[in-house]
This record gives sequence, structure tokens and C-alpha cells, in this order.
Amino acid sequence: MRRDEILRWINETDQAALADLHRQADAVRREHVGDAVHLRGLIEFSNHCEQRCGYCGIRAPNQAIPRYRMSSGEVLDRAREVHRLGYGTVVLQSGEDPVAGGHWIADLIRSIKAETDLAITLSLGERSEGDLATWREAGADRYLLRFESSNPELFRKSRETTPHGLVDRIRTLEVLKSLGYEVGSGMLIGLPGQTSADLARDIALLRELDLDMIGVGPFIPHPGTPIGRHFPDPASVDGQVPSSEEMALKVIAMARICCPDTNIPATTAVATLNQQDGYERGLRAGANVVMPCLTPDGVRAQYQIYPNKARLHGADPETQRDLLVARIHAMGRTVGRGRGDSPKAGKRSAMAVVAPE
Ligand code: SAH
Repeated sequence: MRRDEILRWINETDQAALADLHRQADAVRREHVGDAVHLRGLIEFSNHCEQRCGYCGIRAPNQAIPRYRMSSGEVLDRAREVHRLGYGTVVLQSGEDPVAGGHWIADLIRSIKAETDLAITLSLGERSEGDLATWREAGADRYLLRFESSNPELFRKSRETTPHGLVDRIRTLEVLKSLGYEVGSGMLIGLPGQTSADLARDIALLRELDLDMIGVGPFIPHPGTPIGRHFPDPASVDGQVPSSEEMALKVIAMARICCPDTNIPATTAVATLNQQDGYERGLRAGANVVMPCLTPDGVRAQYQIYPNKARLHGADPETQRDLLVARIHAMGRTVGRGRGDSPKAGKRSAMAVVAPE
């Protein structure tokens, strides 16, 4: 898909044409990653954060939310639950919490690996090269770090970083790759100030980065943040991208067409905009992953990156799994078995085997 085609789809509003885009993406998904939907158990273990991202509810300056950090014993317990439920991957996510860093994470990874055969995905923000290497050695398999926006100025303004913010983040993605992680990235859709041209460049960057995983979702305003408080900005830029379900589904579809053999979740942010069948619509527009939340009920409301986060139906994790599996089967899809590694990572290790010849 060329850049001008991407831009044309971003601006397309005809429903029949959009349905066709979803169908194309769905066919590419079926051909390249099959009908299996991989489930990843998400544990949001700490909402302490040192960053000041202008869009994120757990940013350091937000004093309106109580802060929590689960103990490693509690996280391990939830990881056992992820395993017991039959999910092949546990995703450990947090704010940039310096206390839950270095050896704390490394020990946790080793404990999970000692007891289970779960793949471990980390989503811990920008951390030192030393920590990233230590965690990989301890057994972590994958890392998610969205670039958020490929426009350096929008990145800098939205995240209150230095002018090098975006360059540093993309360098970290390269470091993660060289350490042997499966790497995931992506962006926010409809961030105030984001134009159609920015979003087209974001999609082109997804392709250039040659990712194992792509996570994209609509920006959802949080009243406790500078960007959320002024949303929608009356002085918004010409050609502002809407943070709508429709736009998010278009982007998932284009990501699938541009990056056919990548794992792409129907994200919680999409399901938050459409609590009825947001997951299904994502899965029909090119996605092949869902990430059920296993964060304990007692702290879940405090992990408020954005408000009104979608919850799966069902009173307990087991019922939630059963209802989710039934929804996947009702779509004619299957549930992935095992770790659900990136098809690309498989090709990479096959290449490594033949490399010495
Ligand atoms: N601290 C880590 C992981 C948690 S944030 C990190 O920054 O990588 C995970 C993702 O949530 C971010 O990458 C961002 O794209 C998304 N996010 C943050 N605030 C959001 C909002 N208001 N609406 C939608 N998504 C948001």
C-alpha cells in the first residue's frame, strides 16, 4: 500500500468502501496468521510513574489517583492464574516505576519461568539498556513500546520530552531488537494536533520498523491530564484525525495489509469506544490477538491510563475466559494454543540456523 493510498483511506468516509478495506485486511490476516486468536493475560502491576505524558492518566503529576505497587508474590500469583486459564503469554505492564525496576523485574521473570512455560511480554516504558539486557537474560521474550507519534514535534509536545524524545525511543526499539526480543510498537490515533499526513507517516513507520507486534488505539481523553482537560481543543489543527472507532479500525486494517505477518491486538481502547462488539470489529478488521485483563479488582480502577476502560463480561476470570472464547468461536475463529509467537520471530530463528552455511 503506497503512502498516497494510505492517506486516501484515512480520509475515506464511504461505508461500503470501508467495509471493503476491512474485508481485504481480514483476507490478508487469514492467509498470513490464520484463524487463531491468541489470548494474552495482562497484569498492570504498578501505576507509579516518573513520566509526564500529557495524555496519560497515571502521569507523575496527577495527584488525584492513589498509587499502588503489587508485591512480586502477588504478581507471581496472578501469573499462575494466567497459566491456569490456559493463556500462553503473560504481559507485565506498569508506569515507569523505578522501584519495580532492575533486579525486582529480573527476579520476577525468573520466578514465572521456573514455574510455567508462559511467554513473558514486558510493557514498562523507556528503561536503561542495562535493565533491558538483564530482563532478556532473565528470560523475557517480548517488549512493547509504542512510538506514539512519528511526528517529532507532536511527540515532544504530547510527552513533555526533550527534542530528541522520538529519536531516543526509536533507538530503544532497535536496542530491543538487537537483544533478541520480539518487539512491538504503535501509536495513538487522534492525538490532538495529529493530522492525516502524520497518521499516514505513522503507518509507514510501522512498516519500516519491521515489527513483531503492532498495538494501536484511539486516544481517549483523561480529565486529569493537560491534553484531556482541553479536549476537544477549539483551536485544533486543520485535518485533525478523529479519535474514533472508525478511524482505529481503518488503521488496524491498514497495519495488517502493510505488515501481513505481525501479531496485532484488538486493543482495549477500541473496545472502550464500543463496549458492545469492539473486540469483534477489531478481529474482523485484521487483528488476531486479545489481551484479557488479569489485574486484581482491588487496584484495577487505579490503573487509569484513560477512563471507562472496557471490561470483559463475566464475574470472575474463568467466566470471562469462557465468554470470550464463546465470542471468538461465534465469529468462526479458533483460540490460539501455546505461546503464539510472532511468525516473523520463527523465520528469524530459521534464518539464524542456516546462516553459518
Ligand atoms: N508506561 C508504559 C506502559 C503503559 S502505557 C509505556 O508508556 O509504554 C501503554 C499505552 O497506553 C501507551 O503506549 C499509550 O499509547 C496508551 N495510552 C496512554 N494514555 C492513553 C489515553 N489517554 N488514551 C488511549 N491510550 C492511551
